[in-house]
Amino acid sequence: MKKILVLEDETSIRSFVVINLKRAGYEPIEAGTGAEAFERLKENPDTRLAILDIMLPDIDGFEVCRRIRAQDPHMGIVMLTARTQEMDKVTGLMTGADDYVTKPFSPAELIARIDALSRRLGDAEQQDTGEIIQEPFKLNTRNRTLEKNGVRIKLTQVEYVIMKMFMENPGKALSREDILNTVWGRDYFGELKIVDVNIRRLRIKIEDDSTNPSYITTVWGYGYKWGF
Ligand code: CA
Repeated sequence: MKKILVLEDETSIRSFVVINLKRAGYEPIEAGTGAEAFERLKENPDTRLAILDIMLPDIDGFEVCRRIRAQDPHMGIVMLTARTQEMDKVTGLMTGADDYVTKPFSPAELIARIDALSRRLGDAEQQDTGEIIQEPFKLNTRNRTLEKNGVRIKLTQVEYVIMKMFMENPGKALSREDILNTVWGRDYFGELKIVDVNIRRLRIKIEDDSTNPSYITTVWGYGYKWGF
């Protein structure tokens, strides 16, 4: 059974989510506050997925996401955004979330997102061999790590998959749709904006100057290119 943290203070929404997750074969771990979430994760260190609400009684979901991410770059994290403001989504992704679902959501939509994320993590665990070296970067596809000038850069699973896609296609312009399909899957029904936000986050990590990127360059009106 795949354990999944469900952090939501509104009990009606939480039970609705929990029932649907159980039906889909997951083992939900429930929490109503940020503090409770950290406690439950400590008790269940084999939890690989998390659904985080943003508005909570103690600390906000963004902070929970940030703290989980600091300890575990491989956790699959979906944020529940109550408001439809773009800022919420962008902030969530910038703090390290992999995806977001806007309330009100249908169980089918939520489960589809969780299944897609879970599949990606599963693929991620299948071991690969070798490394791709493009100075100053070295991508180790066996232990899924990235180094720049010999210094390890911590990547989320999504960022890793994007980096691998770039490094396997040096100099080739990749459309945002191509990136979305490869990284999030063809059945993903989110927005292309998620690609841009992840690229922005990746640039902050790998570029010498993220406002003037030299490795991941923008191909206007199309997508991005690994600029070698
Ligand atoms: Ca709430």
